[in-house]
Amino acid sequence: MTDTIFAQIVRGEIPADLVYQDELVTAFRDVQPQAPTHILIVPNKPVPTVADVTDVDEPALGRMIRVAARLAEEEGIDEAGYRLILNCRAHAGQEVFHVHLHLLGGRPLGRMLADPE
Ligand code: 5GP
Repeated sequence: MTDTIFAQIVRGEIPADLVYQDELVTAFRDVQPQAPTHILIVPNKPVPTVADVTDVDEPALGRMIRVAARLAEEEGIDEAGYRLILNCRAHAGQEVFHVHLHLLGGRPLGRMLADPE
């Protein structure tokens, strides 16, 4: 499996604006934020896509959601609401092949899809 920029961030080999890390997951601010809060939460173990998730990854995937909710509180966006996005492969526009959950908020986020049919 090829190494990704997110695996390097998890290992501390390249800089990132880290907001949380534990034994299962790491969270850091997106380098090109699309909302006032835009945080990426990743499993420490490199899993390329949601389609590659197996039983052993369930604790990390569950932790990602709980950490997202906690970070939303810390960012002060929990009451107004926020969006969690998990892109999988080409049609979703996945660019980095290390599973990552986007936490977006801090402004109204509009419709779920930019170009609904
Ligand atoms: P995707 O389209 O794969 O769901 O999202 C990838 C996200 O990773 C994008 O929002 C992009 O801005 C972000 N990203 C790409 N490279 C880096 C990086 O080196 N550091 C950080 N913090 N974010 C990155």
